Amino acid sequence: MSEPLFSWGRYPAFPQTAHPCYWRGDVRQKMLDLAKVHGALLPFGNGRSYGDSCLAASDHVLHMRSLDRFIAADWRTGLIRAEAGVTLEEVLALAIPKGWFLPVTPGTKFVTLGGAVANDVHGKNHHVRGTFGCHVPRFGLVRSDRDPMICSSVGNADLYAATIGGLGLTGIIDWVDLQLVPIRSSQIDATQVRFDSLDEFFAISGELDPQYEFTVSWIDCLARGKPTGRGVYTAGNHAEEGPLVFERKPKLNVPLTPPFSAINRLSLQLFNNAYFRGHRAGRHDSRMGYEPFFYPLDRILNWNRIYGPSGFQQYQCVIPEGNEAAIRELLDAIAVAHSGSFLAVLKRFGDVRSPGLLSFPMPGVTLALDFPQQGDATTRLFTRLDAIVREVGGRNYPAKDAHMRGNDFRVAFHAWESLATLRDPSITSRFWERMAQS
Ligand SMILES: Cc1cc2nc3c(=O)[nH]c(=O)nc-3n(C[C@H](O)[C@H](O)[C@H](O)COP(=O)(O)OP(=O)(O)OC[C@H]3O[C@@H](n4cnc5c(N)ncnc54)[C@H](O)[C@@H]3O)c2cc1C
Repeated sequence: MSEPLFSWGRYPAFPQTAHPCYWRGDVRQKMLDLAKVHGALLPFGNGRSYGDSCLAASDHVLHMRSLDRFIAADWRTGLIRAEAGVTLEEVLALAIPKGWFLPVTPGTKFVTLGGAVANDVHGKNHHVRGTFGCHVPRFGLVRSDRDPMICSSVGNADLYAATIGGLGLTGIIDWVDLQLVPIRSSQIDATQVRFDSLDEFFAISGELDPQYEFTVSWIDCLARGKPTGRGVYTAGNHAEEGPLVFERKPKLNVPLTPPFSAINRLSLQLFNNAYFRGHRAGRHDSRMGYEPFFYPLDRILNWNRIYGPSGFQQYQCVIPEGNEAAIRELLDAIAVAHSGSFLAVLKRFGDVRSPGLLSFPMPGVTLALDFPQQGDATTRLFTRLDAIVREVGGRNYPAKDAHMRGNDFRVAFHAWESLATLRDPSITSRFWERMAQS
């Protein structure tokens, strides 16, 4: 029996029994067998979702990571076909030397293609290229109640739309077609600008976002008063010339879960001050590898263990365009609570439409912060943050969620009923069951 699986935040801590799937031809029978013995299951990619959206209601998951083969690649057009358990890292290893790159990548490359589709993930270039699903013209879907099928915008279009951002509930994706983007270099021409307030962030983002494909900002979540929202804006474009190199850097590891969280008020204050002051005022350009630009956290394997045995939650919301005051309110509430972590990110989404029914991004600003799990204190803070988000018609990201109320989910994701109708009867998650409650 293999080790139990958890979600990335290790909260809620429901250990999942893994049932690995090695062959595409076995997927359907495995689904039927598992459902018969354990009740509804869930596909599991690489467990990089933070909350309970990757946890099966039965705690028995079909582990897709072993479906890890490439099926086809056309290096003239950049269209690849791969099994759903292939990770973004494996795609990069194959594609970069050929002059191609991922069209969209989240902040970790350790996610599977199936997981990237099921959460319709976004990256630093949402304002230019939209979500991952925008670059997936078709995929294979295996359901317990019918024969395997191919889904695209013209064939099984209802299931195509419902599966992109469909949280793994519409069936098992067994392969994915992905349209890559051409690059001349794997390096990034980056620029960084330190900003002293939220107003400055909006001014810089307004000026530089249109000039750069990739943008994101780190913010000091403890700053209060005038410097509320101070931080560092980072932007970049693929360099026009340079080497095409898959970067294989040595990795550090957090080998054990410490008995308590290493993230507390003192360590956070020290880190945030040092990080902010470590960046000189003004704008600074540099050329860097794609790894430190896109995946700085991937250098440290198992970094989620530093939060100790109670785990942590990420709060990620999007505030619709034109409600900048709500971002300030969120940051004030977080600073007053002296909570949060050094992983605090602000980014402007664009208006590229996703083909997915339940895609999270909308035009506006997204805020994402990690919080050590601290029982009632965390609940009180999140209740306050939710009220601010609700008031302006924003929403939370299911891929990161372990606290959202069902009512908020249903209001924010209008298409949830279509997803409910198209859900595979043999599949359900702890997240989906939680959303059925008030
Ligand atoms: C450090 C870090 C940074 C991150 N940054 C971002 C970011 O910038 N943007 C962003 O959008 N997300 C981000 N994420 C979240 C992450 O990208 C998503 O949660 C992603 O979906 C995880 O993929 P996974 O393969 O680990 O899938 P899992 O987490 O195991 O599962 C995710 C969902 O996919 C479903 N699923 C998995 N495989 C299949 C399949 N074969 N068929 C059908 N459904 C399937 C599961 O049922 C589940 O609902 C980040 C996560 C981490 C840890």
